[in-house]
Amino acid sequence: MINIPDIFGSMVFNDKVMKERLPKDVYKKLKETIDDGSTLDINIANIVANSMKDWAIEKGATHFTHWFQPMTGITAEKHDSFISPTSDGSVIMEFSGKELIKGEPDASSFPSGGLRSTFEARGYTAWDPTSYAFIRDNTLCIPTVFCSYLGEVLDKKTPLLRSMEVINKQSLRILKLFGDTTTTRVTTTVGPEQEYFLIDKKLYDKREDLQFCGRTLLGARSPKGQELNDHYFGAIKPRVAAFMKELDEELWKLGVLSKTEHNEVAPAQHELAPIFANSNVASDHNQLVMDLMKTIAIKHGLVCLLHEKPFAGLNGSGKHNNWSLCTNTGKNLLSPGKNPRDNTQFLLFLVAVIKAVDEYQDLLRISVSSAGNDHRLGGHEAPPAIVSMFLGSDLEAVLQSIEDNVEYNQSLAAKMEIAVDVLPSFKKDSTDRNRTSPFAFTGNKFEFRMLGSTVSIACPNTILNTIVGNSLCEFADLLEKSDDFESDVNNLIRDTYLKHKNIIFNGNNYSDEWVEEANKRGLFNLKTTVDALPYYTLDKNIKLFEKHGIYTKEEIESRYEILLDEYSKTINIEALTLCDMIKKDVIPAVCEYIKELSDTALSKKSLSSDIDCSLEIDLVSKLSSLNSCLSKRLDTLDNLLINSKDYEGTLSTAKYYKDNIIPAMQEVRAVADELEFIVSDKYWPYPTYGDLLFSI
Ligand code: ADP
Ligand code: MG
Repeated sequence: MINIPDIFGSMVFNDKVMKERLPKDVYKKLKETIDDGSTLDINIANIVANSMKDWAIEKGATHFTHWFQPMTGITAEKHDSFISPTSDGSVIMEFSGKELIKGEPDASSFPSGGLRSTFEARGYTAWDPTSYAFIRDNTLCIPTVFCSYLGEVLDKKTPLLRSMEVINKQSLRILKLFGDTTTTRVTTTVGPEQEYFLIDKKLYDKREDLQFCGRTLLGARSPKGQELNDHYFGAIKPRVAAFMKELDEELWKLGVLSKTEHNEVAPAQHELAPIFANSNVASDHNQLVMDLMKTIAIKHGLVCLLHEKPFAGLNGSGKHNNWSLCTNTGKNLLSPGKNPRDNTQFLLFLVAVIKAVDEYQDLLRISVSSAGNDHRLGGHEAPPAIVSMFLGSDLEAVLQSIEDNVEYNQSLAAKMEIAVDVLPSFKKDSTDRNRTSPFAFTGNKFEFRMLGSTVSIACPNTILNTIVGNSLCEFADLLEKSDDFESDVNNLIRDTYLKHKNIIFNGNNYSDEWVEEANKRGLFNLKTTVDALPYYTLDKNIKLFEKHGIYTKEEIESRYEILLDEYSKTINIEALTLCDMIKKDVIPAVCEYIKELSDTALSKKSLSSDIDCSLEIDLVSKLSSLNSCLSKRLDTLDNLLINSKDYEGTLSTAKYYKDNIIPAMQEVRAVADELEFIVSDKYWPYPTYGDLLFSI
């Protein structure tokens, strides 16, 4: 039996360890840095580094690494050992404050979208002291930000930290207006629910598409799919349970509060939900969760698929980003209060979110765009590509009462009295019912549900924090000038709601009527990554980022280039993999089956010309025509891939992949899947959907 409190955080250089090991004054200085986000003094850093190193060595660590998220989304590490040679030829274990604050990884091949010529400057890294260092595989990992020599942002963490600063600053301005003098810091909190598939490693090894692309590029549907919903919350199979147990234990050691694990709707699909943490920590933790899922699965003879759509015809995997605002005094700012006064404050924060989502629908859509997620958004399983908000009937009623109330001064107070009665009953049962909404209020937080399972949560949260911070900033600008706060704040809530209520939709987001209705309302319907990305560089968006110091114009342009390029490269790899599979495995397999059938027919005929060979002949004829159709479609795809070289510029290339390569791949797949239905198991070269989904 493991003792959870004993192992929890045992591999983390956390507050408790710092308090125990650091001299009192150093601890105090470090705490200040952590609490107010000031820069770390080099003398303090030296002492912290030394203490960190001693602790890590006691835990068996031999190396250290600056652990960071480049723009590819995957975490990157460069391992250095602690050893330093001494004059007598032996070694000592060393780690200085300089190494803690500034590392210089020679990371010149990370994508930078033209921001940094490889010859010109190296990237610099610096510890984010608000995210604790931890040990994994004998390596001390230091959560780090990554920027260029000239300070240009090259990672996903830096903008996230900046956006948290924005929302902190703007929220404090608002709280001050409400007479709150005790709160000194407001942080955003996130609890990301992570979906994933587990399949058998032996089967995975037999499919190039899973290995190279993380998803199946062909595969006929299995006789049984998810129609019975019998997997959802069903009993967890022993092999999966063993995997989850080890995953939980490893996550607990790293201080990740993994809380619930259950089966999802699709067969072989599961979900992990952690207890929420501050956004930057939650973002680091989610990277660790995804990383550990993959490595621990292998140990159990399994493979964890994090792709958004591993199997056609089955639900894909997403990530629900539960997001809220919390004060350092422990108050959740999105939690409806108990008295009207508090409710005014709550309602102001609420309409700040409504305004933000409405004004920057495009940015929210962009923050979750990827070739993989395009398979989900718009499919009838995940939220559609249209951004809208769900508030729940209780809150709707409160806002409706504000809308109807023209004589606002006294009667708002009266209405708010009603609100008080209504608000405490905000439980999930009344707010969480609309599972189809991309952005739903769930009692004391918002759940942004458009994220794909692989995406780094840093990007969507950077956007979310920035746009809500921006609303709060505009509110504070207005209200700080007000002579009649009471009346002005109520007007502001009402006006903002009226102006932006278009974004609120409580019906079924999966329905065709909604697509029509949203179009009438003038909401964006940016169906694919390629449709969405050009909005990144709109004037209003660049202004927003520059105003709050999140990105410069150049940084957004570089991100735009990187995302488009990543899109085209992803599709290109998929198309090449598909061509390879069809050419080398599928067509030859069909030919072999045809040969066996023909041989059978011939030998039957040689026995007696009266024997009925119509079955063989029919099958051979059907297989032959499908196989030549497959071959023709493959040629078309091949030629289209060759032509892709003619396109210049990332946008036209990406458009070409979307409009030509993806449809051509679908054409190829359709025939291959038809063949899979009639080719004998003996010849079909790949494990089927049935094998992959039901074998554990
Ligand atoms: P469920 O949706 O499974 O019924 P919850 O709504 O309590 O349960 O939690 C779902 C996710 O939301 C969890 O990851 C949880 O940690 C997270 N969460 C709960 N409260 C907050 C909050 N204030 N801020 C951010 N995330 C939160
Ligand atoms: Mg949820």
